[in-house]
Amino acid sequence: MEFREVYCINCKKTLGSYNIKFYNEDKIGELLKTTHSIHVRSGHQVIIKKVVKD
Ligand SMILES: [Zn+2]
Repeated sequence: MEFREVYCINCKKTLGSYNIKFYNEDKIGELLKTTHSIHVRSGHQVIIKKVVKD
């Protein structure tokens, strides 16, 4: 299965991974504005990685 992983470069950690089937880019964008907004608002560099997991 493919996941989109939200990773914060400043905190050096994965904030969450989301199944690509259920989370399109718009939904990930929403999560960045809500669930993970503290990182974005603190000026952290948050990137989206595509990962494949079993
Ligand atoms: Zn962060």
